[in-house]
Amino acid sequence: MYSFHSVCRKFVLNSYLLSQTRQKSKIHWSKAKKKTSAKYKAIDHFDEFYGNVFGKQWESMREALFRRQKYVALVNNYGDTEDTVEYLANRGAHCLKNLMTIQASFHNEYSPKDTPSPSQNTNTNMDDYIARLQSEEISSLYPQGIEVPERLEISNTVSLKTDTSDEGAEKNVSKSVSLNDALQEASIDETRIITPQMGVSSESLYQYIPATKLKGMEDWIPESQHISFFTNSSNTDFPLVIEPEMDFQFPEHLKVMTFEMGSDSTKFPEPKRGKIGMFNYYPLDLGSVLAVLALNLRGGERVLDVCAAPGGKTLTALQTMLPDLLVANDSSISRCNRMERIFRDYLIDYDTSNSWRERLLVSRKDGRMIVDDAGFDAVLVDAPCTTDRHSVLEDENNIFRADRVRERLRIPELQAQLIASALQLVRVGGALVYSTCALSPAQNDGALHAALAAAFRDHGVVATVKDLSAPFSSLSSALVLGSGAAKPKYGQLVIPDIAANYGPTYIARIVRVK
Ligand code: SAM
Repeated sequence: MYSFHSVCRKFVLNSYLLSQTRQKSKIHWSKAKKKTSAKYKAIDHFDEFYGNVFGKQWESMREALFRRQKYVALVNNYGDTEDTVEYLANRGAHCLKNLMTIQASFHNEYSPKDTPSPSQNTNTNMDDYIARLQSEEISSLYPQGIEVPERLEISNTVSLKTDTSDEGAEKNVSKSVSLNDALQEASIDETRIITPQMGVSSESLYQYIPATKLKGMEDWIPESQHISFFTNSSNTDFPLVIEPEMDFQFPEHLKVMTFEMGSDSTKFPEPKRGKIGMFNYYPLDLGSVLAVLALNLRGGERVLDVCAAPGGKTLTALQTMLPDLLVANDSSISRCNRMERIFRDYLIDYDTSNSWRERLLVSRKDGRMIVDDAGFDAVLVDAPCTTDRHSVLEDENNIFRADRVRERLRIPELQAQLIASALQLVRVGGALVYSTCALSPAQNDGALHAALAAAFRDHGVVATVKDLSAPFSSLSSALVLGSGAAKPKYGQLVIPDIAANYGPTYIARIVRVK
């Protein structure tokens, strides 16, 4: 039994010790506590991951991520359209279509010389990064004091080996025997390991299971191996063609108002309801508009938006006035409800008109379970991702929270599954646009690559990657696209920049050929 007095003494003593610890530390304790929160975890992760992938470019992207994000105004064709365009133009905004037309004609006249593709550069950076991450992970798995080989490669054979000489490899084989004994007592950093229960279903992924005998953990796999599966896109065991997109059209009725890069006035006033009660414009990131532009709609299409909520891109697609039918799907009921509120705010008579009922369907399914016999002309997969800007700024709903580790590690796999299922819903000749708001090559090119491989292997689907460099080059006065180490192999990457603080947005367009 504790007396009241002894409890009080203990409390006073604890408080004293705590205050001593607080005083000793140079960082104020309240700040020190905050730095362990999810957004700081995200920053640490990105500093290491993106620092390695993008090199020096990461510094400026990082700085922009912490500054105010820019928006464009999607003018509502079901509101006071002309008045709104005039109102925004008076505030210094330009019509995006005009900016692109001017820039395109400038490019045609002064076409820059082709620069060599830097994707190889990115892969080298990624390889180095993955190798280092693997070494660190292996070190964290080994008991202290045991020397770990410099560059480790986990193969599907039963040994750990270096990629250096035969002699070195031999040395490591004998080392692994003694390590196996020592591993019985090793403590393991479980947050960096993926279990089969996380749903890693791909057979080829299982081939990467480390063969070292981690007692009772034979089916576990380090995070770095997971990343490498989604980044190692140099080996293709499926037909892969990348060709330039030369046939691009800006939708005639789509009105997007934007400020030029570096412009002083960068903030739009709050949207207002017009004479018929609809909001006059919808503010969104320019990267989101690009994802819809990449659909390259021409009119009369059946369109599917697989991850549609809260509806920014769906609304943009509707504002082109081109699709015959748009299915807006999302697995989250609450986000679908939010999307419908947006439709009510922007689409006149959304609840009552038969025309909307025939042209716009809201579906609440897991995107991997959608079935459709007719085939869609255009499918958008704006996948769940690490939402990089949100992750470094907000703790709420942050994917880097400790209790969401498994969910975070499964993201590239979920993305690949969503793309692979969506590919089966695209008719031959139709297009799929894949987009994320992450900078991660694993979630971007990596997930797309894994999906193309799976769709071919499991269903014989063949698709051509359309390089959007040419049509998107006419956006150079409005935003910054990744170049050098930040240029993806398959898609385009809108990178955050202080002068044009949009994104990050990754956009890739593929056309189904079989
Ligand atoms: N396209 C939306 C827009 O422009 O407003 C944003 C989409 S957000 C990046 C990703 C969405 O994917 C979330 O709304 C989430 O609920 C949804 N999602 C997550 N897993 C899904 C799944 N398996 N099937 C369908 N939707 C999913």
